[in-house]
Formats: sequence, C-alpha cells, structure tokens
Amino acid sequence: MTVEQFTDPFIAAYRRVPPVGSGICPLCHRGVRLDASLCYSCSVTMRQVSRPVTEILPISFYEVPDQYWNVLRYYKDSPAPQVRDQLGTVLAATVARFVAQHWACIVGMTGGQPTLVTTVPSTGGRQGQHPLARAVCRSTLLHPLYRDLLTLGEVQLSRLRASDGGFTSKYQLGGHRVLLIEDTFTSGTRTQSAASALHLAGAAAVGVVAAGRVIDPAYSADCRRVWDYATAKPFTFDVCARCTAEACPSGN
Ligand SMILES: [Zn+2]
Ligand SMILES: [Zn+2]
Repeated sequence: MTVEQFTDPFIAAYRRVPPVGSGICPLCHRGVRLDASLCYSCSVTMRQVSRPVTEILPISFYEVPDQYWNVLRYYKDSPAPQVRDQLGTVLAATVARFVAQHWACIVGMTGGQPTLVTTVPSTGGRQGQHPLARAVCRSTLLHPLYRDLLTLGEVQLSRLRASDGGFTSKYQLGGHRVLLIEDTFTSGTRTQSAASALHLAGAAAVGVVAAGRVIDPAYSADCRRVWDYATAKPFTFDVCARCTAEACPSGN
C-alpha cells in the first residue's frame, strides 16, 4: 500500500493550517491578536531557552477530542496493540506523505537540506524505541537520516517551563541541519527545550515538523477564527502552511 492509500480514507480528519501572516502566531500558526507578535505560550517558552526555534511547520490542526487527536494520542497510548499498530500506520503515512510532498518547504525552514532527522525522547518513562521514532523511520526519505540524538536532561520539564537542561544531545552536531519531528505541539515546552539542546550541541539549523498542533476554538476569538479557516475547506496534502497562497482573515 502507498502513503496515499493509507491517508486518503482519513482525509476528512485533517485540518488546514493557515500561513504565517497578520493575526497568526509566526511560530506555531495559532490565531493571535493583531497587536501580538507571538501567541502567549510561544512567547513564554521561547524566552525560557537560549536557542529556540522561531518557526514550526504543523501538518494539521486538531481539537480535543476529534478523530486526528485520537490518532495522535492512541498510536502510543492505546492498551490494545492492534490499535497502536493501526493508528501508528496512519501517523507514519501522514508524516511520510507530508515530508515527501513538502521537502522543499522543509529545506526552506532549515536553510538547506536537513542532514539529520530526530524525535524527542519520552518524558513519561516509556521504555524502548519511541512509537514516533518507529513511525518516522517508516518514511524511506527520513529513515536514512534518522538518529536518536536526544536524551533526557537534568531538568524535569513541566507545562510552560521549557529549559536548556530538559534534553541533552548525545553527539556533537557541528554544522548539521536537523529536522525535528514532533507528534503534537501544544505549548512548545518540549519542542523548544529539544531545539535548544540541538543548537547548543552545534546544530547549524533546526527545523520542526509537528504532525498536529492543538487548537481550542473556545479559547479566544482568534482561535475560533483560525479554526473556522481550518475547517471551512477540505484539507489537501498539495499545500502546507508554508506554501499555501490562502491567507487566514486577520480579524480585528
Ligand atoms: Zn504560537
Ligand atoms: Zn509546502
């Protein structure tokens, strides 16, 4: 089966992500007030590390609960192995299809071809290879570049408390351009801590692709505005938040 055959039956579950622009957080693509430079959580977590990323590329928005949230949560946490397997395949195909289609957009984010691909280690005491690493390695494009670079650091991360010490790179990364794949992006705590650790180990650039970015449409008028954009038209893998020409209305 091809990645299209795994993801097409599922296409109604993905939500469009608007491009960066007026009224959109330039880091995570969430809706913000027109006078805000970043959304609240990005502004907090970005300041807490010395070498943050300034941009991430979400594949799809989701809300809690919905069908895509169900995939992103239960591919790793379902008690049933066959459910983890089935949802893990959907996630693997989602990532593989997206990166193959938008490799040029990813290269734009990292300022050149990524030379390494990695994921963030589990903070919840999970043993063995993380299910996300397994999913990422099912992409023929990503697998040759994949290395398990990060290990848990001395600082225990908690919500909205990012830190340079949350993760440590096992290797010196002098000159490498690293593509970091996340399953979900919520506040940026884990992503910014991981990105900073990679930069501090010498990475020349770090780009982030997040399979999902959560949106709570009830949180604010600006979140409702991006959710309306996200759901107004069917999702397509043909464009991403970096290459779409369709801006989100900026609100008031
Ligand atoms: Zn943000
Ligand atoms: Zn693109």
